[in-house]
Amino acid sequence: MLARSVRDAARSPAMRLTLILPPVRPEVSPAVERCPYAGCGGAHFQRWQAVPKPLRDTVLTEVVARRERCARCGRTFRVSPVGVGPDQTSARLKGVAVMFSVLGMSYGAASAALGALGWPLSKVAVSYAVQGAGAAVAGLRREAVARGGGRVAALGADLTTVRCAGQWLTVGLGVDAVRGTVLSLDVLPNGEAATLTAWLEQLATALGAEVLVSDDADPFKIAADATGVDQQVGKAHVQRNTEAWVDGIEPALATDADGSLARIGVAPSQAVADCRALLRLVTERQPTPEAAATLEAIHRRYVGAAKPAKGEAMSAAYRLRLFSLDRWNLWPRLTRYRTWAGPDGDTLDGTTTACERAIGWWVKERYRTMRGYKREQSVLNVSRLIAAMGNALDGAGFALAEVIA
Ligand SMILES: [Zn+2]
Repeated sequence: MLARSVRDAARSPAMRLTLILPPVRPEVSPAVERCPYAGCGGAHFQRWQAVPKPLRDTVLTEVVARRERCARCGRTFRVSPVGVGPDQTSARLKGVAVMFSVLGMSYGAASAALGALGWPLSKVAVSYAVQGAGAAVAGLRREAVARGGGRVAALGADLTTVRCAGQWLTVGLGVDAVRGTVLSLDVLPNGEAATLTAWLEQLATALGAEVLVSDDADPFKIAADATGVDQQVGKAHVQRNTEAWVDGIEPALATDADGSLARIGVAPSQAVADCRALLRLVTERQPTPEAAATLEAIHRRYVGAAKPAKGEAMSAAYRLRLFSLDRWNLWPRLTRYRTWAGPDGDTLDGTTTACERAIGWWVKERYRTMRGYKREQSVLNVSRLIAAMGNALDGAGFALAEVIA
């Protein structure tokens, strides 16, 4: 959550978040270009009268709005100064409410704090301000694409779940895998391959992505292939599950406990050496022809291991046959980062850290403090809002005026 990253930012001089409150300029009224009444289109106006307007704000208690009269239709309408909307709460005060909320206060706590500061705002008004700002962040992706020169060559993607109104929602998160900025946060109907394919296809096309960085779950592999992008799977995850697999099977292979190695004429010491070689290759991840050839040779040693009959357990040799095939198939996706270079000389580190961090900060931590969202749209609004602020860490600052009407 932002609170945590702000705390980290305070400790680290390298990371900094600046929130810029929307300004209120009582002396500046926005210019009106078109008559606000539907179908009129008038472009010439007459100043009709000045109207005092009470205001809830951190500085002002009243501003002067002006009433203009359309020269074409003769109707009048009100124009408020910059930072003042049709209601009586200034954008600046809404900005403070949003700031308190994203820094970790509940709506009720933010409302109480504002009241103590002499700027009373109800809990409901705080929640409207936060939800409204979140809804305005829908353009996250567009902004980030624009900043990246219109293109994000390496798209990181991951799924997480959030409990909302008594059920689990699948949330898909897309990041710029090189820079870590959040590009897209979407609620998906499920985490199946067909759903992921549709979601990723649309993202990858909009971004011009050429490589997908994700974990090695099958739906992501299928989606990457269907979308026509290369894939890099998270190296740490693959290494961990390879280690666990080797640890689990080594005792059975070392003694050929089920006799399956003897049936294909492979010595137990050879099988153990093959497991260790697999683990070493996966740990070193060298994209060389020799490494790929070794993987192939290991797999070929076990192709004779028989598939178990229906209802029977897999033999150790058969398990090694399947696992070595899986690692051999996975090889290009595991080593892609070693040779990949983006259009601006960008490189990948082979991890899914950008996604994991984004999920931890912008979805999961936030979710814990809210003890479950009540509406699906709230999940999106709040997560998108804090992710947009997260994207502004280290930058010129996040201008709340951009998301507060
Ligand atoms: Zn008009």
